[in-house]
Amino acid sequence: MDLRNAPAHTIRDAIRDGSIEARAVVESVLDAIARDESDLHCYLHLAGRDRLLEEADRVDEARRRGDPLPLLAGIPCALKDNIVVKGMPATCGSKMLERFHPPYTATAARRLLDAGALITGKTNMDEFAMGSSTENSAFGATRNPWGRDRVPGGSSGGSAAAVAAGEALFALGSDTGGSIRQPAAFCGVAGLKPTYGAVSRRGLVAFASSFDQIGPIGRSVRDVAMVFDAIAGVDPRDSTSATREGGGTEETLDAGVAGLRVGVAEEFFREGLDAEVARAVRRGIEALRVAGAAVVDISLSSSRFAIPAYYIAADAEASANLARFDGVRYGLRRGASGSLGGMYRATRNDGFGAEVKRRILIGTFALSSGYREAWYERAMKVRSLVAADYAAAFEICDIIAGPATPTTAFRLGEKQNDPLAMYLSDVYTISANLAGLPALVVPCGSDRSGLPVAIQLTGRAFDEATLLGAGAAVERAGLFSGGPRADGGEHHG
Ligand code: GLN
Repeated sequence: MDLRNAPAHTIRDAIRDGSIEARAVVESVLDAIARDESDLHCYLHLAGRDRLLEEADRVDEARRRGDPLPLLAGIPCALKDNIVVKGMPATCGSKMLERFHPPYTATAARRLLDAGALITGKTNMDEFAMGSSTENSAFGATRNPWGRDRVPGGSSGGSAAAVAAGEALFALGSDTGGSIRQPAAFCGVAGLKPTYGAVSRRGLVAFASSFDQIGPIGRSVRDVAMVFDAIAGVDPRDSTSATREGGGTEETLDAGVAGLRVGVAEEFFREGLDAEVARAVRRGIEALRVAGAAVVDISLSSSRFAIPAYYIAADAEASANLARFDGVRYGLRRGASGSLGGMYRATRNDGFGAEVKRRILIGTFALSSGYREAWYERAMKVRSLVAADYAAAFEICDIIAGPATPTTAFRLGEKQNDPLAMYLSDVYTISANLAGLPALVVPCGSDRSGLPVAIQLTGRAFDEATLLGAGAAVERAGLFSGGPRADGGEHHG
């Protein structure tokens, strides 16, 4: 088996039936890390090599003894650094939390550990998940394995790049406005933002609580389904988690799409969408039609207000959530010898990067008295309109297909000094977060320089099964070839 490119579910099955040893799997991931990590910088923290190998040996011994193995036994995975794991740092890509050690483990991470997965480390991200390129990390950017002069997307760029480069077999990211899907699209891997509430947020450091969701990034749609099934479901310790059992999506993955109604909004194919991306996405839609789906026209006209509404509403929530970083309770403390206000100011001034400060200022302004109605409350109205548009669309279709990103991976530095251009990279992903709906990206082609293009599928709330089934059908069409190259594709330069 070609461990470097095989999907995680194949490796899972091989470990379980004894045709491959967990040790060999871990070694192949460690080799990829040794080869590429110094250049790609996917990780902010790596688990110890010896510990991972010991854990792998325990899986192999258990199998030899004939003990039943949990579902993800011996599968190495990476977690975004805003998902807390006891015994590992959780910096959120911020100087503010550089020395913070969480006292507990996030529910989603706990479920992976209980399923036998091995955590390789914590991945790089835009500071507090604010960004679309991973360049806002206080610890340096991650490079895209498909072209090392390119960003991996963000904010879960480290997770997506790690999976693409074989430095983990799957990863968890978090998605507030597109941070699982946009980097997955840029790195040629599959990524799912679950329905709001489908996966517990306990132990996910909050950015915008009414938007944030943890979700899987994997080499195949089945990998994503497998991980979603493992982490989904009610968590009594997260009051926003949905009171229903999650999962079960892997079983129905091959059901096919005969009779499925796929909604396509022509608005998405106009201004701002790169022609090569449009072509590849249309091929993905055509693949669904050929597989038996019916393509129907829909309209999502309020989505044109999604970006401004999101950046007001999410930043408003962020300004409240990030108030806890005051030099007293977590991580960094500066100016402690002066006044209390002076300590707050010095801590935040040194601890937060420019983008985080910008978001806090925008959010505080949007909530301030006299401006709240004009900004925050209007954003809430747009949020309702977007949800109503989706509800109307789902009267006539079962899933919605369209682009995931307006372009393929852009160059490092290209948008770093232009926040509005950066915000536009989320134009297709944000609406699903406003409405709380599940959305999946699946690679469906490449542009002229070989960079991956993805299609985005959006579904009804809690209907991840249909979404993943459709994603599997796109994948079966074989529009996207190959795994990422080991050499990093300098010819994209
Ligand atoms: N790129 C968007 C932002 O900067 C989305 C981030 C996210 O989903 N965490 O807010």
